[in-house]
Amino acid sequence: MTVSATAAVLRAHREPLRLESVRVPEIRSDEVLVRIHGVGICHTDLTAADGGVPFPLPAVLGHEGSGVIEAVGAAVTGLAPGDPVVLGFDSCRGCRNCADGRPAYCENSAALNYGGVRADGSTTLTDVHGDAVHGNWFGQSSMASYAVASARNAVRLPRDVPVELAGPLGCGLQTGAGTVLNVLRPAPGSAIAVFGLGAVGMSAVMAARVAGCETVVAVDPLPARRELALELGATVALSPVATDDVARAVRRESGGGVDFAVESVGTEQVVRQALSSLRPPGTCATLGLRPGRNPMTIDQGHLLHGRTLTGVIEGDADPLVFLPMLVDLWRQGRFPVEKLVRTFPIDRIDDAMSATRSGEVVKAVLTFADNDTGGRT
Ligand SMILES: [Zn+2]
Ligand SMILES: [Zn+2]
Repeated sequence: MTVSATAAVLRAHREPLRLESVRVPEIRSDEVLVRIHGVGICHTDLTAADGGVPFPLPAVLGHEGSGVIEAVGAAVTGLAPGDPVVLGFDSCRGCRNCADGRPAYCENSAALNYGGVRADGSTTLTDVHGDAVHGNWFGQSSMASYAVASARNAVRLPRDVPVELAGPLGCGLQTGAGTVLNVLRPAPGSAIAVFGLGAVGMSAVMAARVAGCETVVAVDPLPARRELALELGATVALSPVATDDVARAVRRESGGGVDFAVESVGTEQVVRQALSSLRPPGTCATLGLRPGRNPMTIDQGHLLHGRTLTGVIEGDADPLVFLPMLVDLWRQGRFPVEKLVRTFPIDRIDDAMSATRSGEVVKAVLTFADNDTGGRT
């Protein structure tokens, strides 16, 4: 069975994604076909669309997809047609890091998430002429009304959460929340600072409250974002442009420095600010992804006082374990995903992309109407 889908296709870097009809040939035995209801736009999609991540073209991006399973391959167990799911990143589940429960650092991650093809070189998608369109972006390529995902990265959702809003859990929200809950693990009463209040930073703020942090300092130049962070649980919000030395301001607001800092910007300036805001010893997690190499200079003297600087991908989370936990927190009202999201119908993808680039929205989610879903032939 071949399915037709509407997909946002990237044919050339730095050009708008174009909605095209694509074909999804028969899925393989370890794959699932998902009818996408919503897909978040992550900054990594923008970086890839600009050519900052090596990925073969033409391609379908999108790695925060959620929807309903339409079909499962013969070897798939535990998932069935009709199941609502959110899609995470892919991992091999066989290498040493996967076996240690750390699939974010899977040794086969590059091929599985950035290869654009299956292991045998075939693509999950073709255009209407039968020519290859690269899929498998983070094991999903979900900026399309149907996505082929690996059964390894599909996580079943309870039926009482809005499936079209769940996609961002699979990357941005998992990254921010996982960094706090899996990596930093603050003890109740701790102080934490979060630099950069996009979807990653906002989820770090929400997770900090879940962990029982008493002081949560949120830092971002945009007033609307600082306001939202306060609503989501930050205890103080600071603008980095209103002061000469934002690290000093964080130390002042936290009675001498924070125990933990999370930075989601990835520039030398912000990494240094985050490190300098720590009370010794203290740990700073850097999450911001920049295109290409990103060398920076930091003061070794800061580290000598017991400080730790660590990088984190995807919140060091196993989506199969961590996403159900986040969904539970969402249902309890402690992780209100809906407050971060603005939905755009797929035909307004250009508006959604520019609202993401400008920072006007924290998390844009593209949605598909029932009549966008293509058909079967
Ligand atoms: Zn992402
Ligand atoms: Zn692996």
